[in-house]
Amino acid sequence: MSSHFYVGRVVRRLRWLLWLSIGLKTGYCIPLYFQSALSAAFALLLSAGTTLLEFTLIFYWLYPVERAQRALQVTLREYLQARHGLVWDALAPILTAGLGALTLVFTLSGQYRAWGTLGVATAGAMGLGTLLIGLGLIRRPTPLPLRSVAAEARLLSEAQRLGRALGIQVNAILVLDGTRLRNANAFALSGGRIAITDFLLAILTEQETLAIIAHEVAHLAQRRRLARLWLLTGGAGVGLTGALAPLLAGLPTGWLLLWLGLLVGGMTAPMLRLRRLHEREADAFAVSQYGAAPLSSALRKIASIHQRAPDAHGDVIHPSLLERMAQLERYSQT
Ligand SMILES: [Zn+2]
Repeated sequence: MSSHFYVGRVVRRLRWLLWLSIGLKTGYCIPLYFQSALSAAFALLLSAGTTLLEFTLIFYWLYPVERAQRALQVTLREYLQARHGLVWDALAPILTAGLGALTLVFTLSGQYRAWGTLGVATAGAMGLGTLLIGLGLIRRPTPLPLRSVAAEARLLSEAQRLGRALGIQVNAILVLDGTRLRNANAFALSGGRIAITDFLLAILTEQETLAIIAHEVAHLAQRRRLARLWLLTGGAGVGLTGALAPLLAGLPTGWLLLWLGLLVGGMTAPMLRLRRLHEREADAFAVSQYGAAPLSSALRKIASIHQRAPDAHGDVIHPSLLERMAQLERYSQT
C-alpha cells in the first residue's frame, strides 16, 4: 500500500460518493415515481436500502486498511455500526420528507381506497415509518459506546456555569469510548447532555478541553432554535403537500419527483444555513470565555488525529481548519 493513501482522505471522499449514489438512484427510479405514490415510496425505501448495502461493502473493504493505519481496536461489527451512522445521517432527512409527503399524497388523493384494508394498513405503516425516522432525527442517541468513567466534577460545574451564561441547563457530561476507534470528538446530545470521547480528553490540556466544552454548550443552547426551524419547514412541507395533494395525484406521478426534490431542497437549505451560523456562534462563545488560543490548538490536534489537511473542507457545516482559525482570531479582537 502506498504511503500516499490516507484513510482520512478516503473517508471524506466517501461523502461525495454518497451524494452521487443518492442522485443516481433518484435518476433511475424515475419510472417508479411516475406510477403511483406507493411505487414511489417503494422506490425511495429500495434506494435507501441499496445505498446502505453499497456502503456496507465499502466499509467492509476499508476496515482492515483503517485498522492498520490508525491503530483501531474495534471489531468489524462495531466499526460498521459507527460508520453507518454517517450514511444514515444523510438518508434519514430525505426519508422523512419523502415518505411523509408520499403518505399524504397516498391518503389525501384517495389512492389507498383502491387497495381496501391493505391500503389503509399501508398508509398507516408509511405514516408510522415517517414518524419514527423523524423522531430519530430529533432524539440524538450517544454516537459511541459509553465509557464507564465519570467526567471530573470540575468539568461539569464549569460546563454548568457556561450553560447558565446562555440560559440553559447542562445536566451531564458523558465520556464515550473513542479510544478503540481513535475518535477524538465531542457532541451536544439531547437532554442537556454533552459527550466527549476519552480519546479527545487524553490529548487535550484542561484549557483546551474547556474551550471544546464551551463550543458544545453553545450547541445545546441552539437546539431549540434548530427544532423550531425543523418544525416550521416540516410543517410548511406537509401543509403544502396536503394542499397540493389532489393536484399532484391528478398529474402523472412523475411530478412527485420534482416536488420531492423541491421539498427536500427547501427544507435542507435553511437548515444548513442555520447550522453553519451555529458553528460560528459556538466558536465565538468559546473564544469569549477562554480566548482564541485554547480552542485553536484543540482544533489543530483534532485535525491531525483525523488526518485532516488544514486547508481541506471539513463538511457542509464546518469550514477548513485554516478558515476557522482565521475566524477565531477575528472573534478574539472584538
Ligand atoms: Zn460544532
